[in-house]
Amino acid sequence: MGAVVWYRNDLRVDDHEALRSACEEHDTIRAVYIKHQKKRDFERGTQQARFEQETLENLASHLSQIGITLDILEGKVHEVLDSYVQPDDTVYFHKMTGTEEAASEKYIEDKYSTRSFETQTLHRREDIGSDELKRVFTAFRKRVEAKGTFYDPLDPPSGIDVMKEESVAANPEIAFPFRGGESAGRARLREYLAEPVFTYKETRNGFLRNDSSKLSAWLANGSLSSRRVMAELQKAEREKGANESTYWLYFELLWRDFFHLTMRETGSRLFRSGGLQEGQRTWKRDEAAVERWIEGETGVPFVDAFMNEIRETGWMSNRGRQIVASYLIHELKQDWRIGAQYFEQQLVDYDVASNYGNWAFIAGVGNATRTPRFDPVFQQQRYDPNQDFTKRWT
Ligand code: FAD
Repeated sequence: MGAVVWYRNDLRVDDHEALRSACEEHDTIRAVYIKHQKKRDFERGTQQARFEQETLENLASHLSQIGITLDILEGKVHEVLDSYVQPDDTVYFHKMTGTEEAASEKYIEDKYSTRSFETQTLHRREDIGSDELKRVFTAFRKRVEAKGTFYDPLDPPSGIDVMKEESVAANPEIAFPFRGGESAGRARLREYLAEPVFTYKETRNGFLRNDSSKLSAWLANGSLSSRRVMAELQKAEREKGANESTYWLYFELLWRDFFHLTMRETGSRLFRSGGLQEGQRTWKRDEAAVERWIEGETGVPFVDAFMNEIRETGWMSNRGRQIVASYLIHELKQDWRIGAQYFEQQLVDYDVASNYGNWAFIAGVGNATRTPRFDPVFQQQRYDPNQDFTKRWT
């Protein structure tokens, strides 16, 4: 009788309740990660694939310190698990946001002995009323802020030393020069909390490496836990003083929670043309227009620069994402889900809830009552007045 730790978007050893519990309750432990079978319209970005590979190598080396092998398999989740799990095994896993993810969990729970845990978000669904999620972000934020407490992160099982990354990657040419994996994520967290975070509120709309935390990629595949980020942020606040910027990083992490908990509440609705709103919406699907958008050939330099950046690096700043999404939806009038799918294949930080939640928001079919629209010319004058970013990427 053994334990199987089923790794998903929780690719770490730190703050990992499933791994910790398996180690406490079993002597024989195997770990498995099932690579996604791609069935989408766009080819997977090379940077996204690289980041995943580096993450898995780092996890495998951490697990090997306590004699656990990480098996990396490919195929349909339930088929792979059916051939991997022995009838008397117990499957340990963390619950994940997403309809396909929830369906796999149900299948496994119905068939095997399981232990499941919740660590993907800072706050949990039971901490708030579902009414808060049907309303807007502010109602949700007020509710969780009134609660005021956080779940403490767990340390890794004894015997594992999360390897220290010697240096944080430094390619000054790009905003996201980082490697995948828990070690690189922890190094970036240390680097960012040492100083840049204290001016985050002023810089967060910029396009450079330290203008924002860049933590999203590790948070998305779970090589960094949001509870660990919060605990380290609070420590930095105690040591150096809290300010508006340190609060704002928490504020942005709440957006992540909000989209996750909304998706858990609303199931597959965020994939519909009408999103969370009632009824369907009709959108255009013009392949040539979408192709020009993807290739950075719209003729609008600011939009093209961002699209070139994501194609080459797998990264785009939040401001850039808002501008190119608004352009595809409101100027080209294309189906917002085409853009969401393209991002799904390219972003190193692709996260189902944050991606579809933000795209739906800009398309005016999310929780919000207003439809944001970003004029790229005005945005360029405001955020790239000297055109440094635009010239770099066009
Ligand atoms: P910071 O500004 O340093 O923020 C700290 C953390 O807060 C981020 O790492 C992230 O976890 C969270 N966060 C910040 N802004 C948001 C937001 N608007 N929504 C949800 N969480 C947020 N984020 C993803 O993680 N994955 C996605 O697939 C994704 N797709 C997006 C698509 C569109 C069209 C838009 C407009 C935004 C999308 N975002 C997505 C949200 C946001 O752009 C990124 O989280 C952010 O740019 C990541 O950079 P950072 O880590 O430096 O963020």
